[in-house]
Order: sequence, then structure tokens, then C-alpha cells
Amino acid sequence: MTKLTRRSFGIFTGALGVTLALPTYLRAQDRPKVVVIGGGAGGATTARYIAKDSEGAVDVTLIEANPQYTTCFFSNLYLGGFRDFDSITHTYDKLASNYGISVVNGMADTVDREAKEVVMADGSRVPYDRLVIAPGIDLIWDSVPGYSEEAAEIMPHSWKAGPQTQLLKSKLDAIENGQQIIMVAPPNPYRCPPGPYERASMFAHVLKSKGLTDSKIIIIDPKPKFSKQGLFQEGWEKHYPGMVEWYGPDVHGGITGVDPAAGTVTTDLDTFKGALVNVIPAQRAGAIVAKAGLTDDSGFVPIDPYSMRSKADENIFVVGDATIAGDMPKSAFSANSQAKVAAMTIRGELTDSKVFPAKYANTCWSLIETDDGVKVGAQYAPTDEKIASTTSFISQTGEDGALRKATYEESIGWYAGITNDIFGD
Ligand SMILES: Cc1cc2nc3c(=O)[nH]c(=O)nc-3n(C[C@H](O)[C@H](O)[C@H](O)COP(=O)(O)OP(=O)(O)OC[C@H]3O[C@@H](n4cnc5c(N)ncnc54)[C@H](O)[C@@H]3O)c2cc1C
Repeated sequence: MTKLTRRSFGIFTGALGVTLALPTYLRAQDRPKVVVIGGGAGGATTARYIAKDSEGAVDVTLIEANPQYTTCFFSNLYLGGFRDFDSITHTYDKLASNYGISVVNGMADTVDREAKEVVMADGSRVPYDRLVIAPGIDLIWDSVPGYSEEAAEIMPHSWKAGPQTQLLKSKLDAIENGQQIIMVAPPNPYRCPPGPYERASMFAHVLKSKGLTDSKIIIIDPKPKFSKQGLFQEGWEKHYPGMVEWYGPDVHGGITGVDPAAGTVTTDLDTFKGALVNVIPAQRAGAIVAKAGLTDDSGFVPIDPYSMRSKADENIFVVGDATIAGDMPKSAFSANSQAKVAAMTIRGELTDSKVFPAKYANTCWSLIETDDGVKVGAQYAPTDEKIASTTSFISQTGEDGALRKATYEESIGWYAGITNDIFGD
């Protein structure tokens, strides 16, 4: 009888289809088990690539707290009225039906690294041979004095997409001419470096479209400079003259607190009052990686740049915003790119398939006004120290309208492509 190696097994099932085509004796109990915690840009991509490329030879379970996922990416375009909410919300149905992934809707509480089991909030345990954790970020509520989870119902952060994004949109749509919007921007490191400034552009777009040009958007930033600063400031001047003001720490002197009841943000310079206050606090990795003992003092996870393997545990890989990813920004594009490296490495270890040298990429597009899109991006390669940028590019100030329109259209194609790549098509 022909001996069925894991490698030849992959070829066999490739001809037959996925999980359901497996002989009964090779189903879940005999296959190596990969468990993925977090069904966002990083986790869902990793689960999908392992299931797809191993063609049923690996048993993949995806644990996700929410039944569906609203993307932070393009949530600013929803705020600006360029997308509807449904178009940025995705289900896990195709990962289950087309790739045989077991999708568990629940909260992972911690990881028993000795036993190699994920401990769920309900006490149940899910065993793994390899574990991938992609929990994204948690907000550090008290990084802005006076801010809290309760305060976020009045001063939404909307830095995790879903009900918070809808709350921010309803407050934006209620602004009247002459009223102010105040944004407290986050300190580094945080997810999506250009995100706050694209959001301010979308706020301005909505106000301008409604003729509310006596209103102002004031950004109070703890950072002395920000991503694509020249491009955004040129765009604000061109499209929204006098409407967007940015104050760095040398102007405001320090953010001393917020008062949700009064709708104010206090700094050393002054107290600012807003009809809408959008507070984006400091961030750290999603709680479960700290609980699993994988973070360092920064609150994020050190990883091996060649594989995305946690430096603290050889059976655990971490991808996306929760990691210290060297020169890579915390973006969905980065998380998706890192996920493919982790998936290939894990599949190689579990099925003896070939592992190619890691390479990574990112591009972040931002919309400033209708058809005025800009971008920044880079290619990356691993070194012993970090994931290092090898080449990079950025839109230029003064570009013509046709190029900016093409850049925006490129971002629409990217969104369609990456959401298929994450959630399946
Ligand atoms: C306003 C805004 C705009 C953005 N725009 C862009 C953009 O244009 N381009 C871009 O590339 N990126 C953009 N980003 C960044 C992007 O959204 C994140 O970088 C990306 O989502 C990170 O992916 P992740 O997998 O690390 O985390 P996430 O996508 O946040 O996924 C984490 C998932 O894990 C789940 N989870 C966490 N802990 C547990 C647990 N213990 N048990 C079960 N489930 C758990 C969460 O429910 C969540 O679904 C933007 C972000 C914001 C806020």
C-alpha cells in the first residue's frame, strides 16, 4: 500500500477538494491543529492561507469574539459618506464553507502554554499544535485623564470599528454651522498612522458639503509631527481653507484632561469645547497576548522578523497590530502581509511544504477630498534586528488631479482585493 506522507496527502486532497473530501480517519483527530485567535486582518488571513494552501491537511480553528467584522480601514470613508456601513462589514461564512475552517464565536481568555491549549472565557479548552494570535490593539483609557470606556459613549474613539463608528457618524451628522469638532490624536505607536488626519479630512468634507464652513475641526496632537503631514496640510488649505487647525505639543503645551459632561479638552494653552469630541487614546496590544506572557515593557509582542514567531514561545506566532514589527506601520495591509509569512512558516513545519524567504509590503492610502487620494508605502525584508524597510514611496505635494483620482481609485481596488484575501471570495 502507498504510504501517505503529509506532503503527498496535500496533493491528493488538492484534486478532491477541501476538508469534507478527507477520509474519515484523517479528519480532525489526526491532522495537526492550528488555532487562530482574532478574526481581523491578520488572524483571518492566516487562517485562510493555512487552510487554503494545505488543502485540508491542517485542521484550522478560528476563534473570534464578534460574529462579524467591521473594517477600520475605509471606516473614515463611511464617516465621509463615501461608503455605507454594510460595505465595510464582513462575515466569516466563506471561511467556514469554502475553506473548512471551524469558526468559533467566543472570547479567548488566556493561553495555557504548557498544555498547548487556549482557555476560553467559558472555561472550555481548545488544543493546538501551533497557535496564531492576532488580537489587534486595546485602548489605554487613562492615557488621557478623564477618559474611560464610559466616556467613549459621549466622546467616541471609533478606533475599533463597529458601533463606535456609527456613534461618531451620528454625532458628525448632527453638527450645526459654527460648532466645533475637537480631535485628541494618539501618541506613537498606534494603528494606522495617517488615520486621524484622513478622518479630520472626512469631517471637513461633510461640513463643507453641507455648507457648514463656519465650523472648525481642531486637532490636538501629542506628537510634534505626523504621517503625510505636508500632503494633508496642503489638502486642508486647498479644499477646506480655515476649517482645520492642527496644534502640536509646542503650541498646546500638553493635554491635561477631558471632561465628557462639559464636552471639553483642556491643555496648558487653553480649554477647547466641541459639539463633537473624538478622543483617540494611546494603544497597546490586545489583552490576551500580555496575559499569555508574550509582551515586553512596550505592551507589544517581540517577534522573529523571519517568521512572525513569538520570541517567547516557539509554538506561537503573533501578527498584526499586536506586534513590534520594526519599520512596518500598524495597518491592515501590514497585518495581511505578515499573516502570509506566518501561514507559510506554519504550513511548512506541519506539512513539510517549502518555505520561501519572508518578504513584506505595505501601502496606506488616504482620501483628503473627493477624488483627491494620497498614499505612502514600502517594501520590507527581515534582518536579525527587525523587519526593515528596503524601498519606499510617498505621494508628492502639488500632484495633478488626474493622478490623485487614480490614487483614490487604486485604493478602492485595494479594499475589494484585501477583503477577499482576508475573508474569502
Ligand atoms: C480609522 C482607521 C482607519 C484605518 N485605515 C486603514 C487603511 O486605510 N489601510 C490599512 O491597511 N489599515 C488601516 N487601518 C488599520 C487597520 O484597521 C489595523 O491595522 C488592522 O485591522 C490590524 O489587524 P489585526 O488583525 O492586527 O487586528 P484587528 O483587525 O483589530 O483584528 C483583531 C480581532 O481580534 C478579535 N479579538 C481580540 N482579542 C480576542 C480574544 N481574546 N478572543 C477572541 N477574539 C479576539 C477582535 O474582535 C478583532 O476582530 C485603519 C485603522 C483605523 C482605526
